Amino acid sequence: MPRDYLVLRVAVPAPLPRWFDYLAPRVCPHPPQPGMRVKVPFGRSEVVGLIMELANQSALGEGRLKHALSLLDEQPLLDESLLGLLRWASAYYHHPIGEVVAAALPGLLRAGRAASLADPGDVQGRAPAKGSAPAKGSASVAGKSEAKGSRMPGATALDQGLLAAAPPALNAAQQQAVTEVAEAQGFQVLLLQGVTGSGKTEVYLRLIERVVARGAQVLVLAPEIGLTPQLLARFQQRFAVPIAVLHSALGERERAQNWLAARAGRAPIVLGTRSAVFTPLARPGLIIIDEEHDASFKQQDGFRYHARDVAILRAQRAGIPVLLGSATPSFESLYNVRQGRYRALSLPERAGGAAHPEMRLLDVRHQVLQGGMSAPLLDAVGEHLARGEQVLLFLNRRGFAPLLMCHACGWSAQCERCDARMVLYLDQARALHCQHCGAQRARPEQCAACQSAELRVLGYGTERVEQTLCEHFPAAEVLRIDRDSTRRKGALDDLLARAQQGGAQILIGTQMLAKGHHLPNVTLAGILNLDQGLFGADFRAAERMAQLIVQVAGRAGRAHKPGRVLIQTHHPTHPLLTALIRDGYAAFAEAALTERKHAHLPPYSSLALLRAEAVNRAAPLEFLRAAQAAAEPLAGAAVQILGPVSAPMERRAGRYRAQLLVQAARRNELQRLLDAWMPLLETIKTARKVRWSLDVDPVEIL
Ligand code: ADP
Ligand code: ZN
Ligand code: ZN
Repeated sequence: MPRDYLVLRVAVPAPLPRWFDYLAPRVCPHPPQPGMRVKVPFGRSEVVGLIMELANQSALGEGRLKHALSLLDEQPLLDESLLGLLRWASAYYHHPIGEVVAAALPGLLRAGRAASLADPGDVQGRAPAKGSAPAKGSASVAGKSEAKGSRMPGATALDQGLLAAAPPALNAAQQQAVTEVAEAQGFQVLLLQGVTGSGKTEVYLRLIERVVARGAQVLVLAPEIGLTPQLLARFQQRFAVPIAVLHSALGERERAQNWLAARAGRAPIVLGTRSAVFTPLARPGLIIIDEEHDASFKQQDGFRYHARDVAILRAQRAGIPVLLGSATPSFESLYNVRQGRYRALSLPERAGGAAHPEMRLLDVRHQVLQGGMSAPLLDAVGEHLARGEQVLLFLNRRGFAPLLMCHACGWSAQCERCDARMVLYLDQARALHCQHCGAQRARPEQCAACQSAELRVLGYGTERVEQTLCEHFPAAEVLRIDRDSTRRKGALDDLLARAQQGGAQILIGTQMLAKGHHLPNVTLAGILNLDQGLFGADFRAAERMAQLIVQVAGRAGRAHKPGRVLIQTHHPTHPLLTALIRDGYAAFAEAALTERKHAHLPPYSSLALLRAEAVNRAAPLEFLRAAQAAAEPLAGAAVQILGPVSAPMERRAGRYRAQLLVQAARRNELQRLLDAWMPLLETIKTARKVRWSLDVDPVEIL
């Protein structure tokens, strides 16, 4: 009988799909526990790992195990339930546990810094006064900390110091939603559907109030860093308790402090973006996912998890309800409602009596366009400006123009490292940009192929539309909001603040502008070019298009002025588009889901995408063919392996890319295949010649 000895199973930050066994440190002031960090020797260096499990035996045998060097924590940083979630995520997304753990820890703790760096004395005590403007950005654990505790009979939350401001009276639909979530026993997923302005955030606030009043914590996830200041402001205006904010724009120290405040239970409210889904909570009571349909909840590189899906698993493990909110729920969530797995709640009317905006398609066939805009659209802009109202225009294309072409021979400026055209910018010095790899070069004087000087600028980007608008409406200030105009830290906040204060009359922007920002004086929203969305090659293109239209529409007429939405299209009779405009998002989703069902696409099937890339053109396809051969014998009748094919844009930043799609009728069949298949990929000879990655439940398959 081999002797028992204490083994630490440690997740180390390395791209290897396994744990590593160590003996406890020779000097150990207290017993090691799962969830504590240890410094361990790894290869030739020392790394900080996390103890996942304790064991009494190792397959290596005691004699061959190394001792961990030191134990870094007195208490586990992550509890059993969170460790379990990380193990699940590692298994489900087939991603190395060490990297999954790394995603869950703030940088300073990952680097081995002491967890005492944020003792309660460090938390800023700042109680926002009623109606006061919240500080922007950095001060992110805010408020008084004594607000919890048992409710005094008869005492209101306002008396207790929980509330900083009194809430409005709820309408019947809001009341119903609050009651259903508040009465949910244990784990339950609830989907709150309501257009922008219907009062979803007010429902969140009421639920947060209840959860916090009974001494538990709420985790709120929002899709974009750009949206958190706005939510934070509403939370701070309402609640006089500490709020821990967690997103990637915070400094490392602040991030670690807020994370520890959440873990210790000092912050009753935790507000963050995607990665905040892994924040430890001392007393989890409720999880809220705002804009649950948003693609940014899915991490698109490295550890490719979906924060909404992880949040649901987390709520299940914690035995608490999770509330998903959206004006345009994802098809996955709508499907789950249909299947009876999620409970649907809806807010059919705009709160406070604001009217729904009027939506209209503008047929631009045969129309003369100026800067991408038809005469009826420009006229409408003029009308709204004359009334002293704001106008928002949406175009999903940055730069000045997408194409610089030779009129003599048809040559166009291409990126040298990507299969893509260079986009023309106004910036004269470096006018040509590749939006895929970031390459930039000067605008050529003449054609590179035939030396003709007849170079034409074709198509429109936001810069060009901005220019046209300035010429057309010289008295109006035009503000452009896109990735280029908001590169500087704080630029987006500044631009939005200017827009909110009415400092600009016309806003032109991309996706960024379409999302949840509160712009009460906007009464006209225009969508310049929809057709990319209608005919996008990805199977989610139509869903995204519809979500975008509804989001843009949500920007119009939020306050007491009725709104108008004009959508330019070359396909005014497209059935999905007309369903959306005439009958609304639910009817559109119904029709589009039927198409998905017939095509066996998610949510009617489960997908995984194996991607490979290499400098050598043949290597990715070669690797994927070998991977396919390894998968075929494992795939039952319910699993199909499709491809491999080159990526639609095959070369990007000098690397060739290809992909293999795995489609299964059911999730567990997909997982069974992946479990057996992933270990085999390591053994494929050509695997060393490529960079490969697996994407489970991809949000884009192109
Ligand atoms: P959403 O999150 O769905 O966009 P909000 O919760 O932000 O909606 O509500 C939109 C506006 O209506 C906000 O200004 C909010 O203060 C106000 N509001 C919400 N609920 C009510 C209500 N029951 N009575 C009056 N005003 C409300
Ligand atoms: Zn030419
Ligand atoms: Zn490029």
